[in-house]
Amino acid sequence: MSVNEIPLSLSAEQLITQVPGVVFQFYRSHEGHMAFPYMEGGGGTLAHIDKHQLAHDANNALEQLTGTDYPKLMSAIERSARWMLPLTTRFRLALPGRKILWIAVSATPEPTPTGVRWHGLMMDVSDQVLEEQRLRKLCNTDSLTGLPNRRRLMVQLTNLASLSTRHGTPLSIMMLDIDHFKRLNDRWGHLQGDDVLKQLATLTQSLLRTEDMIARLGGEEFMAILPLTPLKQCHQLADRLRQRIASHDFGVGEGQVTLSIGVAEYRCGEPLTTLIERADQALYSAKDVGRDCVCLLP
Ligand code: GH3
Ligand code: MG
Ligand code: MG
Repeated sequence: MSVNEIPLSLSAEQLITQVPGVVFQFYRSHEGHMAFPYMEGGGGTLAHIDKHQLAHDANNALEQLTGTDYPKLMSAIERSARWMLPLTTRFRLALPGRKILWIAVSATPEPTPTGVRWHGLMMDVSDQVLEEQRLRKLCNTDSLTGLPNRRRLMVQLTNLASLSTRHGTPLSIMMLDIDHFKRLNDRWGHLQGDDVLKQLATLTQSLLRTEDMIARLGGEEFMAILPLTPLKQCHQLADRLRQRIASHDFGVGEGQVTLSIGVAEYRCGEPLTTLIERADQALYSAKDVGRDCVCLLP
C-alpha cells in the first residue's frame, strides 16, 4: 500500500482537537479591541477556559497575565501588527487551582480592513522553560560554594556600571583573597580547604546587603560589587568583613583564616578592566603590607 492509500482516520477538525497545542485565530481592531474568534485543541487545557467569552472579548483575560507578561505580550502584538512580522513570544498562564504554565505563542499576522488577524499556535512549554532555568543557573553558579561565578558577576557589574554612569550614582567593588590558603590546604587537606571556602561564601554573603553581590572568581579569590556605595563606605564595610572573618571559627584553628581585601570605586565611563585592575593592585598592596588588611588606591 502506498502512502497515498493509507486512510485518514480523522477529519482536519477532529485532528485539531487531538494535537498537543492550541490552534487559534486572534483579532485586534484598530481601536485595540481583542478577541479569539477561533480556539481549538490543547487536550484538556481549554476545558478551564471560557472560549465563548474569549471569542467576544479577550482584553479582560489578557490583562490578568502575571507580572511583566502583559506589557511584554502587548508590545510583541504591537510589533507584529506594525511590521506584519510573525508573532513569537512566551507568557505565564495561571489557571485556577493549577500550577503556572509557560505558554509559547507563534502566529502569522494578516491585515483586515478593521484591524489585524493572526493565525497561530500556542504550546505548553513549561518543562522546557524549567530546564532552561536550570541550565542558566548552572552556567552562572560556582559549583563548590553556590555563589555566582565570574560570568554572572561580569554581567551584573556591566549593568550596574551603566546605571552608575547614567545616574551619576556611586559604585564600588572589593577583591578578596584568602591569606596563605596553600598553607591551610597543606596542613588540613584539600577537603577541609573546600569546607573553608564554602563557609566563607555563606558568611560573607550573610554580612553583605541583599542588593550587593559576592562571586567566586576562582580558587580562593572572590569579588563583591556594592551598588550605591562610595569608596569610603566600601572601605569601612570591607574592614568590618575582614574582622568578622578573622574572628570566625572555621574549624581550622583560631585566626587561621584571614582575608586581604582591595577596594576601588568606579569612575564614570571607565572600562571595567581598569576598575578591576585598580582593585587588584589594592589587593596586592594589602598582601604587601602584611595581609589580613584592607587597602585602596588613591
Ligand atoms: P597569599 O596569601 O599570597 O594569597 O597565599 P595563598 O597561599 O593563598 O596563594 P597561592 O596563590 O599561592 O595559593 C592559592 C591556593 O589555593 C593554592 C590552591 O591549592 C588553593 N586552591 C585553589 N582552588 C582551591 C579549591 O577549590 N579548593 C581548595 N581546597 N584549595 C584551592
Ligand atoms: Mg591567597
Ligand atoms: Mg589568590
